[in-house]
Order: sequence, then structure tokens, then C-alpha cells
Amino acid sequence: MKAAVFKEVGTPLVVEHVADPEPDPRGLVMKVAYCGVCGTDLHATREGLTTACCGQILGHEYVGEIAEVGAQAEGDWQIGDKVCALPFIACGHCLPCAAGRFFECQDKKVAGVDAPGGYAEFVATGARETIRLPDGLDLESAALVEPLAVGIHAVRVANLKAGSRVMVIGAGPIGLTVALWARFFGAREVVVSELAPSRAALAVKMGATRVIRPDPSGGAEQLLEQFIGVAGGPPEVIFECVGAPGLLQQCIEMAPQRGKIVPVGVCEQPDNIMPFFGLIKELQIQFAIAYTRDDFDTCLAMLAEKRIDVSAMVTDIVGLDELPEAFEALRTPSHQCKVLTRM
Ligand SMILES: [Zn+2]
Ligand SMILES: [Zn+2]
Repeated sequence: MKAAVFKEVGTPLVVEHVADPEPDPRGLVMKVAYCGVCGTDLHATREGLTTACCGQILGHEYVGEIAEVGAQAEGDWQIGDKVCALPFIACGHCLPCAAGRFFECQDKKVAGVDAPGGYAEFVATGARETIRLPDGLDLESAALVEPLAVGIHAVRVANLKAGSRVMVIGAGPIGLTVALWARFFGAREVVVSELAPSRAALAVKMGATRVIRPDPSGGAEQLLEQFIGVAGGPPEVIFECVGAPGLLQQCIEMAPQRGKIVPVGVCEQPDNIMPFFGLIKELQIQFAIAYTRDDFDTCLAMLAEKRIDVSAMVTDIVGLDELPEAFEALRTPSHQCKVLTRM
């Protein structure tokens, strides 16, 4: 099959012919229809804590059709079933696996990191981690289920209360899905802080009630002032969806007494905070990572029932041969939000 392969840090992906995935007896093989390009994939090609193995096929946001069913695969699978999959192949018999919390499985492999991913014509998936698409949901819409699941997971772990004032820092794909779900779950105000005008406009389409533009030299005080100006009060919950050093401290300074901060952005560098400011306000800092099987199920149901619309997030669709160039272009700021690869 054809696949886009990560060779080494500092070089573009290479499209080449590789062996088809080995079907695990307990697993499935998906014929990939779409695979989204994610910030995590870009992270995986840089030196850091999540660098992929050389020779790996990246991509963890794939949807498609069942092409092969392992002899011992659990479930009633038919060739041609339209499916998506959580990008894990987990052990299947630990407690987290039983609860659909595959990310917490100690024996899991992650597609695009330590197992081949979806920038390819075919990808191996786990039977438990694969989900049949609800009737009426097309593959292109379903291709956004993974970033949607990151967003719903963050809003769920935040225990967001209806009527809250919410600040979302950053309008990348994750900031946008967090904004969408915060609105969906009843936030009174969802104010997104974003520098880039194209992303700010997208934030409004995705559910932000207002967008504010941070002044890079103004710091927390100036941003909070803007927030209160449009929202009428301070943010009870702040979702940090960028992952840059310094932002956590800004959140601590902006949060009100007993406010909650939910870091969702991936920061792989040391970051200084002044705990004292969090202490005197009794702040909660609640990190959020990945998603569960139930997060995926809920996102798929809401997409199928057309209760959410994320089509505005897809800013480009490229073929597999064009992927390496599109991938490199995403390293520098652009008007792009979610780029899908169509196989
Ligand atoms: Zn992703
Ligand atoms: Zn497990």
C-alpha cells in the first residue's frame, strides 16, 4: 500500500510503498477514507517527549471502511462497514480497557506513535477501539470526531456548570472544539482569546459568544479586562488550549477565587508558575488529555443528529501525494485549521 512515512526529525514525510498492515487475529483492518492532520503529528516529527519512531506512519484521526476482520475479533463486523477508531490498540483485559478508557491502558500502542497510523491506504485497528458510524453520518463529517472528542473530554473533566463564564485561550482545532462543547453544555459566555483574525472568525462560527485579541505586551491584566468587558464578569473556567510557556501563570492571574484552569494544550517545556497566587485564590488546575470510548460515541451521535456542525473547521482536503507538502506548510502559522487527507 501507499503511505506517508516519517523518516527522521527535520525531513518531510515521504510517500512510498510499504507492506499492508498485518491483520491481528483479534483486530481489524480499515481502508482509510480520510485522515486528519493534527498538531500532535507535527509534535511527533520534532525532537521532544513525543517524537515518533523513525519509519513510522503518522496520523491518528482516521475514518474509513472495514477491509479485513480478524478471526477472533469481537463484534459483528462486515467488510465495508463505515467506521472510525480510537487510535489505540489496547490490551483489552485491564480495568481501564473494560471501561473504554483505552488511553489509560498500560499495554496500549498508539497509532502514529508506536504503531502505524492513518496516513496510509490501510490501518490496523483494535476491535474494541473501532466504532461503526451511526446511520446518516458521512465519512467526511466523521473525520473530525477525534478533535471533537478531545474537546468534549476537556469540558467533561472541567465539570462545567450551566451558566458559567468560560475563557478559551487559542482557537486552534482544540480551542475550537472546546468552545463548541462549552457552549453546547450551557456556558453563559464562551470568550475565545486568539491573535489570528482567520481563527478568530472560525471561533465565532464554532460557538464562541465573543472573541478577544490578546495584546502580547499586555499580559494577564489586560486580557482579563477585555474578558470582563465583554462577558460581564471574570472567567470561572479557563481552558488553556495553546500549550506555550507562560500561559499557565497568566491563567492563574486571571482566574477568580475558586476558579478552575483546564490545561489542554501540549507544553513540553518547563514552565514557571507562582503557586502563591493560586494558593490564595484556592484555584483548581485540572489537566485534560485524550478521550474515552464514550467521548467518541457522544461526538458521533451529536454529529449524526446534526446537533453540532464542525464543517467550517475543514480548511483543506489534500491527496496522499500532496500530504508531505501540506504537512510542512502547517509548521508556520497560516489560515489553515483542519487539513484532511483523502485517500
Ligand atoms: Zn489529533
Ligand atoms: Zn488494557
